[in-house]
Amino acid sequence: MRTPLVIGNWKMHGNLARNRMLFTSLTLGLRDLQQVDIAICVPFPYLGQAQLLLSGTNIAWGAQNVSQFEEGAFTGSISAEMVADFECRFAIIGHSERRALSHESDQSAANRFVQTLHAGVTPVFCVGETGAERDAGLAKSVVGKQMRTLLDSLVSENLALAGRLGAVFSYEPVWAIGTGKHASPAEAQEMHAFIRNLIAARAPEFATASRILYGGSVNAGNAASIFAMPDIDGGLVGRSSLDADSFRQVCEAAQQPMRASAAL
Ligand code: PEP
Repeated sequence: MRTPLVIGNWKMHGNLARNRMLFTSLTLGLRDLQQVDIAICVPFPYLGQAQLLLSGTNIAWGAQNVSQFEEGAFTGSISAEMVADFECRFAIIGHSERRALSHESDQSAANRFVQTLHAGVTPVFCVGETGAERDAGLAKSVVGKQMRTLLDSLVSENLALAGRLGAVFSYEPVWAIGTGKHASPAEAQEMHAFIRNLIAARAPEFATASRILYGGSVNAGNAASIFAMPDIDGGLVGRSSLDADSFRQVCEAAQQPMRASAAL
């Protein structure tokens, strides 16, 4: 049985004072949720603040990217080892905003995934198609290529590490991110099953254990129906993670009893 997981992605929002208030509301508001794993991925400068304020709570923290290189002359970049120094549990890898705005390729996302594993941090590997690609009937070929580039880059040592660290995948249709539109539960389920089958073709036991999140305008109103799908193990949540009440409702929707009853 896979424990549901909800990860908030704060993107480039926040400052020390606002974060402190949000961390306080989140730690108080989420402390009784026991059947869902919860994490928040904050901007790099606030990893220390997250470590300070979330240590000892039921909320883990993480980064939103890492360099594809181990170390060296890469001004402005942050390595996986550096985020590991802040006891990050997770690092988001290959988010569509990185792929589009910073031209990160499928191969560089795969390299980042490997760096993250080697630093002992759990990667949250994002894949997804644009609206134009979906309209052209290319959704599975785009997601398939992103996944295969990753899977082909993983030697057996990396696969073992990914299994041990509980590597996470996230289907995030680009047309649904920050738009208020979301994939229907059936559309999302179809893609999640496709992703799980791709993983299974490479490593069957890893596929069964891997958590595959859905991301793209998840909110308090739509979370329960999306999370009720059998291959959807929780969410990667942008906008709704910036409001403690909304985020709590999304986390509640991911808890197993509600998930089971929603599926009936
Ligand atoms: C995201 O940032 O990964 C995301 C899914 O954002 P939103 O929930 O705002 O669509």
